[in-house]
Amino acid sequence: MNFLRRRLSDSSFIANLPNGYMTDLQRPDPPPPPPPTARSPSASPAPERRPQSAQSSATGFFSSITNVVKQTAASAGLVEQTAAAAPKRFKVLLVIDEPQHEWAKLFRGKKIQGEYDVKVEQAEFSELNLVSYTNGTCNVDMQVIRNGSKVVRSFKPDFVLIRQHAFSMAQNEDFRNLIIGLQYAGIPSVNSLESIYNMCDKPWAFSQLIGMYRKMGPEKFPLIEQTFYPNHKDMISMPTFPVVVKIGHAHSGMGKVKVDNHSDFQDIASVVAITKTYATTEPFIDAKYDIRVQKIGTNYKAYMRTSISGNWKTNTGSAMLEQVAMTDKYKLWVDTCSEILGGLDICAVKAIHGKDGRDYITEVIIIHLNLHLCYSMKTICRGLLMQQKYFTYFILPSVYKSQSLTNAFNAFGETFRSSNEDEAKAETIRNLRKSFASLFSD
Ligand code: ATP
Repeated sequence: MNFLRRRLSDSSFIANLPNGYMTDLQRPDPPPPPPPTARSPSASPAPERRPQSAQSSATGFFSSITNVVKQTAASAGLVEQTAAAAPKRFKVLLVIDEPQHEWAKLFRGKKIQGEYDVKVEQAEFSELNLVSYTNGTCNVDMQVIRNGSKVVRSFKPDFVLIRQHAFSMAQNEDFRNLIIGLQYAGIPSVNSLESIYNMCDKPWAFSQLIGMYRKMGPEKFPLIEQTFYPNHKDMISMPTFPVVVKIGHAHSGMGKVKVDNHSDFQDIASVVAITKTYATTEPFIDAKYDIRVQKIGTNYKAYMRTSISGNWKTNTGSAMLEQVAMTDKYKLWVDTCSEILGGLDICAVKAIHGKDGRDYITEVIIIHLNLHLCYSMKTICRGLLMQQKYFTYFILPSVYKSQSLTNAFNAFGETFRSSNEDEAKAETIRNLRKSFASLFSD
């Protein structure tokens, strides 16, 4: 029994059980045998007593093992204990995010379709594993350390909210297998699993922008010139320098190198050779500021980011962030992206505004809400994403500076008020503390 208890606290044991085993654990108990009654003449004759066959005794043996395992699993909190007949009055929302964003608090008191509570299970990609079946069942195992204690849980998500990159070559983290598993079971998600999978290679996403550029022309859709190399082999020369070489798929400025001359370009090509991945090159734009235009439903915002520390990458070192007016031009860019990519509820376009006065669109970020999910869950998630986007996509604590700090919090406060006043105040105070701490530590 102790052995079983130990094994059941190890989620890999649960995950390695044969197919259907945990499903069996979650099935209600079979009805108890009828109590023995005196045989009456009208009653059907008692079945003939026969020696138990090997199969039935094996079934009995496995059934009792199953019961022991079931009780142990339930006492270890590994399986949901639901009354067989009682319908589930809650929806399980799996949020894939870092623990400091406390999503359970944001969903507290929220109802889906006016009747279902939202039960939030939160973990990072690295803390999750799952098994998916063709019948749409997805059993997720989660092992997290919270306040020094290991928490092990198993559950079936109704909906997933993904707040971490599924793939980055820089961190050597690849969670596309989990994205496939969720898609396999058809779990609705924000962002859509399809868009997340498609965004796991930046040049693949850039190819969508090329389509728009061809359709609209450079005046309306000023896409930066880019060259794609599937590997280092043809990275021989560039017509002009400086250029920016972007190696593989990574975030936060990782793998982006400014190259000033031919011999440095050869050096970088040799680095690409050992990374065994693709690379892109684009002209280096002497930038005045970066632009980000985002669309969340019918809500449009534009921001500009200027480097303070002098790094050519404005997402590296210190930078100033300011909200700027939404112009028709910005609206056209972001609307075009949202239309062409199959009706996106949420997307963002990144661009560079050069000292030459021209704009260069560099990237689209597809944030795709899945329309299959129930409307209320979508509305709740979209509202919450609107609050969070300002933080996680463009405003990082390390880039808050003087004026930008005020603007950032005005933007944040504006959307946050609409959903939960008290939580908003507490969150704003927490973030202000963090931001001031980072300001002074700099
Ligand atoms: P993030 O994860 O923040 O989206 P990323 O890793 O996708 O960043 P990019 O946005 O492509 O990286 O580049 C990082 C920064 O480098 C940009 O914000 C911009 O300031 C600068 N940058 C990128 N491409 C160019 C370019 N061609 N010319 C000049 N600066 C550039």
